[in-house]
Amino acid sequence: MDGQPEALVDLSAIRSNVAGLVASVQGAQVMAVVKSDGYGHGLIPTALAALAGGATWLGVNSIDEAVRLREAGVTAPVLCMLAAPGAPHADGVSFGVDLSVSTAELVRRIGSAAERAGRPARLHLKADTGMSRGGATMADWPELVAVALEEQAAGRCEIVGLWSHFACADVPGHPSVDAQLDAFRAAIEVAQHAGARPSVRHIANTAALLTRPDTWFDLVRPGGGVVGLCTLPGGSPAWLRPAMTVRTHLVQVKRVPAGTGVSYGHRYVTLAPANLGLIAMGYHEGIPRSAANTAPVLVRGERRVISGSVCMNQCVIDADDLPIEVDDEVVLFGPGDRGEPTAQEWADLLGTISYDVVTRFTAKIPRSYCGVTGAEAMAVYAGGADTDAAKLARVGAREV
Ligand SMILES: *Cc1c(COP(=O)(O)O)cnc(C)c1O
Repeated sequence: MDGQPEALVDLSAIRSNVAGLVASVQGAQVMAVVKSDGYGHGLIPTALAALAGGATWLGVNSIDEAVRLREAGVTAPVLCMLAAPGAPHADGVSFGVDLSVSTAELVRRIGSAAERAGRPARLHLKADTGMSRGGATMADWPELVAVALEEQAAGRCEIVGLWSHFACADVPGHPSVDAQLDAFRAAIEVAQHAGARPSVRHIANTAALLTRPDTWFDLVRPGGGVVGLCTLPGGSPAWLRPAMTVRTHLVQVKRVPAGTGVSYGHRYVTLAPANLGLIAMGYHEGIPRSAANTAPVLVRGERRVISGSVCMNQCVIDADDLPIEVDDEVVLFGPGDRGEPTAQEWADLLGTISYDVVTRFTAKIPRSYCGVTGAEAMAVYAGGADTDAAKLARVGAREV
């Protein structure tokens, strides 16, 4: 054991979370949102495990991520949710990636890219129903729809979806949810009246999926729920299992007297003689500096708190009289069933959300996987038979 930190991702948890989400939405399809490298859990393994769990769509934020999924052999529809004028739209069209559009100008631009690519672009028209992030305002919506219909008539695009996104779905009872839902229904009405015949209408993220069946429409878009997390107060329901465990090992242990100042600034001082343990993780590896004297970890089956300032690559833990030794495992967070903290607990203590906690770690520390292998995931996804499945199984097996 070298003390190196790792993020362990349980692909069985992802598969069964998605199976539970699929079962709970009664007939609506599930798009597993795997943006940001699958919320830090790994784009390809997370996507394959989600497909194995019954997701029939995938959502990402860049054409590059979508193409990586295609190159891994994924044939399910993939929506690139973030629309950017400079994105490689021709690549998106050639790889059969669904594209979000919020402006008439972008529809025309993608129409030209589609002409070059020699096939129609698959578009999801995005309405801004009150989030004020992406999407066309209600004032601009009719023009967006009209231009998309023109491009469709010219054979350059196909209007596949109408969609929007909630600002406050994780604040149960927030009046904006009803207001956005009304606005979304009105936008659908306008588009259908103009002649659009989309196959999917979608607005629900994890929080809306879990709390508001009237938001499901044809397709729901959980991201956090896929990896066992949720931004609702109190976190995710118990049937969703957090898929990521971040752990490391003690690299040094020492005994110090009471009154010993610890780490930069001596922001922690021992109250009694104590065993101090050192881990080789700091803010570079993902531990926020605000975790000082705040975030709990599990060592030898007991909880202790990160003691004193978080350094760039190191942190100290005051274990008091616990008989810690070099190489002892230290779990920062995980699903919680061995008594370890969860990402939700870290988030609550640090004043953020669990998504922010999990996505911090995996760019800098290695990931490993347990649970279903990529090959198993693909066998379930594709029924085990066709050549695509065999190709996917190989990709999955290597990734996992
Ligand atoms: C991230 C995202 C989602 C998923 O949200 P969760 O809260 O993780 O379920 C859905 N739709 C859009 C547009 C997003 O950006």
